Amino acid sequence: MTTDIASVSLPDGERIPKLGQGTWEMGEQPARRASELAALRCGIELGMTLIDTAEMYGDGATELLLGEALAGLRDQVFLVSKVYPHNASRRGVIAACEQSLKRLKTDRLDLYLLHWRGSVPLAETVEAFEALRSAGKIRHWGVSNFDTDDMEELVATPGGEACATNQILYNVARRGPEFDLLPWLAARNMPAMAYSPVDHARLPKRSPLDDIADARGVSVFQVALAWVLQKPGVFAIPKAGRVEHVRDNHQASQLQLDARELAAIDTYFKPPRSKRPLEML
Ligand code: NAP
Repeated sequence: MTTDIASVSLPDGERIPKLGQGTWEMGEQPARRASELAALRCGIELGMTLIDTAEMYGDGATELLLGEALAGLRDQVFLVSKVYPHNASRRGVIAACEQSLKRLKTDRLDLYLLHWRGSVPLAETVEAFEALRSAGKIRHWGVSNFDTDDMEELVATPGGEACATNQILYNVARRGPEFDLLPWLAARNMPAMAYSPVDHARLPKRSPLDDIADARGVSVFQVALAWVLQKPGVFAIPKAGRVEHVRDNHQASQLQLDARELAAIDTYFKPPRSKRPLEML
C-alpha cells in the first residue's frame, strides 16, 4: 500500500488520512455493485483507508456492500458510520450500532457519528456513545451537520468535550464554515470532516477551476478536491463508484495549488464575510 497521503490528527493525537472515501448511494444498484466494490478496494490499496458510511445509506444496503468490500481488509481501515437522529436515544444508539456492526461484518467502528441533530437531548446520545466506547464497540465518536452554536452546546454537555470531529458540507462552492465553524473547531484541535468535497458532482459549468485544470492537465474535480485537501485541519471523503475516479482522487491529493491559483479561485468562489448558516445535503 502507498502511504503518500497526508494525515490529520484527531483531538487525542491519533493520525488519520486526510483523504478517505465516501459511500452514499453505493450498494443501491446491482448493476453498479462490482464497480463499487472494485473502487472501494482500489482506494484502500492507494491509502484512502478512511471510509465513511451510515445506517441511512440505502437503508443498510450500503453498509452491507462495504462489509463485503472490507473482507480481509478490515484492520487496514478507519471505519466510520453514522446513527440516525431518531435512533439517538440511550438505547436506540446501542441497538443501531449493533445493527451497523452486523452489516459491516466487524466488531468495532473507529468512529461513530450522530448524522444530524434531532430531538433527543445531546446528553443522552453522548452517554450512549460513551457506553459504546467503554464496551469497545466504537473507538471515537463525533457529530455531523452541527453548526457553531450546536457545537457550543455539545461541549457544554457532560462528556461532550470528547467529540472527535464534526462532519460538514464543505467544498470550494460552499465556504460558509470558514467564517466561524472551522476556526472554532481548529481552536479545539478538532479536525473537520468535509463531505461532498466535489459538491456532489454539481460544480459550476465554467469557473476558474476549469482554467487551472486545463493548465495542469487534470480535471476540475481534481482541482476542487486538491483545494479542500490543502486546508489545514480538514479531511475529505469524496465518493467515487468507479476505479478511474478513485485514482484521480488519489492523484489530487498530490496536487499543490499555488498562491496565484488560490487567488483566482477566491475571486469566483468568495470566502464568507459574515456568518452563513451551515448548509447540508
Ligand atoms: P462528492 O463526493 O462531492 O461527489 C460524488 C460524485 O462525484 C459522484 O457522482 C462521483 O461519481 C463523482 N466523482 C467523485 N470523484 C470524481 C472524479 N475524480 N472525477 C469525476 N467525478 C467524480 O459527494 P457526496 O457523495 O455527497 O459526498 C461524499 C461522502 O460524504 C458521501 O458519499 C457520504 O459518505 C458523505 N456525506 C455525508 C453527509 C452527511 O449528512 N453527513 C451528506 C452527504 C455526504 P462516481 O460515483 O460515478 O465515481
